[in-house]
Amino acid sequence: MKIPFVDLNRIHDSLKKEILDEISNLFEDSSFILGNRVSEFESNISKFLGADCLSCASGSDALLLSLMASGIGQGDEVITTPFTFFATAGAIARLGAKPVFVDIDETLNIDVRKIEEKITSRTKAIIAVHIFGQACDMVSINSIAQKYNLVVIEDACQAIGAKFEDKYVGTIGDFGCFSFFPTKNLGGAGDGGLVVVKSYDNFSLVKKLRVHGSAKKYIHDVVGINSRLDAIQAVILNIKLKYLNVYNEERIKIARRYFEELKGVEFPKILSNVKHVFHQFSILVEEEKRDLLIEYLNENGIGAGVYYPKPLHLQECFEVYDYKQGDMPVCEDVCKRVLSLPIFPGMKDEEIDFIIEKVNCFFKNGYVD
Ligand SMILES: *Cc1c(COP(=O)(O)O)cnc(C)c1O
Repeated sequence: MKIPFVDLNRIHDSLKKEILDEISNLFEDSSFILGNRVSEFESNISKFLGADCLSCASGSDALLLSLMASGIGQGDEVITTPFTFFATAGAIARLGAKPVFVDIDETLNIDVRKIEEKITSRTKAIIAVHIFGQACDMVSINSIAQKYNLVVIEDACQAIGAKFEDKYVGTIGDFGCFSFFPTKNLGGAGDGGLVVVKSYDNFSLVKKLRVHGSAKKYIHDVVGINSRLDAIQAVILNIKLKYLNVYNEERIKIARRYFEELKGVEFPKILSNVKHVFHQFSILVEEEKRDLLIEYLNENGIGAGVYYPKPLHLQECFEVYDYKQGDMPVCEDVCKRVLSLPIFPGMKDEEIDFIIEKVNCFFKNGYVD
């Protein structure tokens, strides 16, 4: 049996005709960038999330726009996690601000107990990343932010549809950032992103910043960027949004089987007051066994991935900040032991059976064929 790490055709096959018909209509009016289809998507997703949303060109830009709208720049510090996709910290550094990393806990999200000790007079914001689809403890993060007057930006790129208590992630802080990269829980056929903006003033500011700081054509009161969603992505996202909850429920069902049937592996902790949407299903194994398990799964036709093999505080481009090995012990340990198994809507029961059988066999018998 061949089971890829992710197979987007499983959901696209049944949607392709509807998508292609809509794209063909789009060519009739050639409204390719922003325009009515993008507005329609913004309105649909705002309704879904229950908060005002502006689309943009990528999740990375959603982070950048949120930081820009918060006035973050040279000399400022922004607190975030070292266990995330590079874009989270990259957006901070691009604006001349310093990413201040705080170690993670057993949920693999930022350890909220360690945030306060990293706050200085230069700290302006916290970027809370809901890694792999599980919400951070937003009550603690919001209360720390309130105490020190910090902006809260949620990097919810992996967590669309996830909840903290009864609220959708991305709608809890001052800004929420989403990505529509094809493999995300809601993905387009190219790049795309979304910013949830809580305040009216910030909403008009982000709306301006995504089109070179211009609210009125050819009048620029601030320097912005070019970051817009295109209509082809909006068409696809409008169609797929209708099924987002169904897709997320499928992921949750697969995860439940893994939790119940995998033996001898450690799972990251899941908080009791969250709805996890399993962008990734990660397990933790002994360091010496991780790469062997991947090899074993690959030899059996099963895809597997490592998210993330290297903590951000140890990346070469951040050497200027003087972080060193040992600064974030939990994250460093997790990077050596973490492994993601296939989890995607449209996976067949036999495929899940086979993966469970192979992982269990590996731990029972060691690496044998
Ligand atoms: C995917 C992702 C991003 C960036 O999104 P792009 O749309 O690829 O720019 C940012 N943060 C996290 C946590 C992500 O997973």
